[in-house]
Amino acid sequence: QSNLNSNYTFGSFIEGDCNRLARSAGFAVANKPGITSFNPLMVYGGVGLGKTHLVQAIGNEIKNGPEEKFVLYVSSEKFVNQFMDGIKDGNIKSFTNFYMQVDVLIIDDIQFLAGKGRTQEMFFHIFNHLHQNKKQIIMTSDCAPKDLMGLEDRLLSRFKWGLTADLQMPDFETRIAIIRKKMQSEGIDIPDNVIEYLAYTVDTNVRELEGVMISLIAHASLSRVEISLELAKTIMKNIVKDIETEVSIEFIQKSCAEYYGIKLENLKAKTRKKEIVIARQVAMYFSKEFTNHSLKSIGYHFGGRDHSTVIHAVQAVNDLMETEVSFRNAVLEQKKQFKIRSY
Ligand code: ADP
Ligand code: MG
Repeated sequence: QSNLNSNYTFGSFIEGDCNRLARSAGFAVANKPGITSFNPLMVYGGVGLGKTHLVQAIGNEIKNGPEEKFVLYVSSEKFVNQFMDGIKDGNIKSFTNFYMQVDVLIIDDIQFLAGKGRTQEMFFHIFNHLHQNKKQIIMTSDCAPKDLMGLEDRLLSRFKWGLTADLQMPDFETRIAIIRKKMQSEGIDIPDNVIEYLAYTVDTNVRELEGVMISLIAHASLSRVEISLELAKTIMKNIVKDIETEVSIEFIQKSCAEYYGIKLENLKAKTRKKEIVIARQVAMYFSKEFTNHSLKSIGYHFGGRDHSTVIHAVQAVNDLMETEVSFRNAVLEQKKQFKIRSY
């Protein structure tokens, strides 16, 4: 009884820059549990970023491996409860013995031990016993070990013996791959523009991304309609509050200021510094392309400039795109974002 969910495998865990280190360390551990220098292996990251999936994938890989190993997955919450029950029933010994027999201990959401001194002490002993016997310990936490409040220093210092790796929110391309994989495993086809739209708009965590996909599929099948961009937008509006689906001049300005690393005010200011002029011209160019504002109104939003300035900006951007490849690529990359938003 190892409490592993067989769906959580390496095969279903999409790799990206966001998880590369954690994933490959996990894979190394899965192939040589207890004998790599990644002991303990500590995976941390925000909610819904794949911690449980990854550590269970390690567990499944070991369980299905050539050697017979006792792999145990336990949430810290359950660990605490079992310990409390042990105390209540005067049966701590069997609790300890059980954990000391494990070959691979996967303990999830270790932050839950915060402030629970006696459980931490017990865990400390189990940890030492397993580690001395070259048994593998794998942990997850919702924050970096240094930010784990309420955990004893001697425990925290043990965590540093091995490897700590974080999980980040997958980038756009990785989100697309995750959606594709998920849809493929469900045997459902959804149009590319819907996939792109979801990958673009849901940038909080993977669990939320999956939640939106599930609602989308459910709505489409209940109301017997095709999965479409319209439906996806309606569902997003219901699930995610104040999502911006319009491309406004303000949105373009914010995005360009960020992209070119300049202050937002400078887009409206008089300054004629080269980087600022370029960012401003690009923002005007996008405003012309993606909003219905007149040239006059666009000029007005950029510090009360004349409509001829806007015409000039659009021309300048077009010219520069023809002569400078890197500039052209930058504009096209940014454009992709606005396009998805304005579907
Ligand atoms: P956490 O434990 O960090 O809160 P989970 O492991 O429960 O997150 O992941 C939430 C959901 O997102 C799960 O259904 C998981 O399968 C999925 N998920 C997260 N990261 C990935 C990934 N890289 N590839 C595929 N699915 C992922
Ligand atoms: Mg989890």
